[in-house]
Amino acid sequence: MELFHASNEEKRPSGSGDQIKSPRKISRRSLLKGAAVFGAAKALSQMGVEEAEAKGERDISNAGRVKEEARKASILIEGADPVRFLESRYLVSALYYSDRFLRKLSRGEGVSDVSEEIIAQIAGKVTSGLREQFMSYLGRKFAAEVRNGQPKNPSPPLIDFIYGRGQNHPDAIDLFIEEGALVYTMRSGIAVLADRGWKKDNSFSTSSLKGGNTVIVYAPDTKEFYRYCHLRDVLVKAGEFVMAGQTIGSVGHSGSNASKPGRGKHLHLEINRYYEREKEMRPLFEAELKNMVEQAKRKHRMFVGAD
Ligand SMILES: [Zn+2]
Repeated sequence: MELFHASNEEKRPSGSGDQIKSPRKISRRSLLKGAAVFGAAKALSQMGVEEAEAKGERDISNAGRVKEEARKASILIEGADPVRFLESRYLVSALYYSDRFLRKLSRGEGVSDVSEEIIAQIAGKVTSGLREQFMSYLGRKFAAEVRNGQPKNPSPPLIDFIYGRGQNHPDAIDLFIEEGALVYTMRSGIAVLADRGWKKDNSFSTSSLKGGNTVIVYAPDTKEFYRYCHLRDVLVKAGEFVMAGQTIGSVGHSGSNASKPGRGKHLHLEINRYYEREKEMRPLFEAELKNMVEQAKRKHRMFVGAD
């Protein structure tokens, strides 16, 4: 069943459809009181008692798991050993997310699912010092492995695609293509997150419910993190060295929104860059992202043409 059915239901504008039908005059006060429980009662009747009970139990066990995951990440943060940061997918995600997004979550704004609840609990602990520790460890790891082969030119993430239009995310782009199309890493780097096994009815199957099966690659040369979401297959592991142009997975429709009917069939791409002087992680905007992809396409064509 839909995990966030109840909360979606609450967002639906009221005033249409089956409203309270009152056969007798009632006071405004009791009407208001009635209206407050009406939403819950409506959700309950739609869901069925058994389902609601199951949901209740799940909410309680979810809360426990949220605490546990946040605690695990906090212990790693306190340990300050970047070699171990990859042990928590939530910590890695938090280290990736922009400062703006983390500030928002820690204020409790826009927390819409359990993965964001976990991130919200550790957001305040993700300092620029912690990020720099992580990135310098990844830089050393990269330098040790890069001698096995020169980093290649940037690669386009897909060979053939069309840009999505009218999207509601200013700092990401959707590249549309048939599912199953291979996804290539744009830059050489270290894969820091390789979430696979997304399941619609398991809130903890991936560290981002919205992202679904996701790969994040850190490119030390530019201090940029590349995030590829909604994948079907994931072909790399966290901690692995990846070369620009290497296949990291395939296009799918994993994630709470991408899995809805009529969605999917696209790769969601984000790039976050760390600005050393400002000590801040910022997302690239849509136009910048398109630019990067177009540049990679040109370089790739030149490289393929020259060969
Ligand atoms: Zn998207």
